[in-house]
Amino acid sequence: MKIRTLTVGLLAAGLALTACGKEGAPSDTGSSDGDGGNTPALSYEVAKDVTVEGSPTFEKMKKAGHVVVGVKEDQPNLGYKDPTTGEFSGFDVEIARLVSAKLGFDPKSIEYKAVPSAGREQAIINGDVNYYVGTYTINDKRKQQISFAGPYFVAGQGLLVAKDDNEIKGKDDLKGKKVCSVSGSTPIQRVRDEGLTESGNIVELQTYSQCVNELLNGQVDAVTTDDAILLGYAAQQPDELKVVGESFSEEPYGIGLPKDDDALRDKVNDILEEAMEDGTWQEIYDATLGRSGNKADMPEVDRY
Ligand code: GLU
Repeated sequence: MKIRTLTVGLLAAGLALTACGKEGAPSDTGSSDGDGGNTPALSYEVAKDVTVEGSPTFEKMKKAGHVVVGVKEDQPNLGYKDPTTGEFSGFDVEIARLVSAKLGFDPKSIEYKAVPSAGREQAIINGDVNYYVGTYTINDKRKQQISFAGPYFVAGQGLLVAKDDNEIKGKDDLKGKKVCSVSGSTPIQRVRDEGLTESGNIVELQTYSQCVNELLNGQVDAVTTDDAILLGYAAQQPDELKVVGESFSEEPYGIGLPKDDDALRDKVNDILEEAMEDGTWQEIYDATLGRSGNKADMPEVDRY
């Protein structure tokens, strides 16, 4: 996979869990009204008179007059729902908002549906969501059921352990350790395929925040999934948690779409490509994932 690597400094201090307000927004369309719920942290110009010829999904959105987006709600700086305000924020959420705006739908009218990893394909197939943006690795197995636009980011599998853990330094130290990950995810599959720990030591839950709670309670020794996700949790509780070792996979993130809606996939790929070229991607990144201390890898869209 081709990756355009950008040098981005690590933002270690003052890590906030929400995107950082409107300063430096890609385009200031002045949505400063306090509309609660879905106020975007960045604003995007809503495109007018958009047509996506031959896209049943786009037709459905047009009819409904708004977009239903599948997201994660417990992944800081990626897809996160503020427990007090109910607002969604993060890199994936901003990508979803950008796509919505470019398709001609005001991001403020997005209906977010939190769908855990194991439910993504089915949510797309059932039409419960129009598209899904949530740390969703593009792979051939999933492509048999759905389509992907992107990638718009490439993460890698990593490990989260307790801050005072001096034993686990990488994936080869997991034997005999209790390792938590999530049903239907590529990382739990890799733990199994590579036999990183004994099958009796694998703890399989529905969400990564559940795994992190198990780690904080001392019920498991490590949580494994994409480094981008783990860095968000470590940034949330830097005195308790740390990410260790080199990442050991490539996880290209795509936007999940109904299978065979090639027209919409092409259009979303155009939107992503433009955002990578005109600086919008970078601004979104800096306001969200960059705050977890991630390294920015801007990929190239794959027109399969
Ligand atoms: N990117 C991986 C996947 O799609 C792990 C993260 C997740 O479960 O969302 O399976």
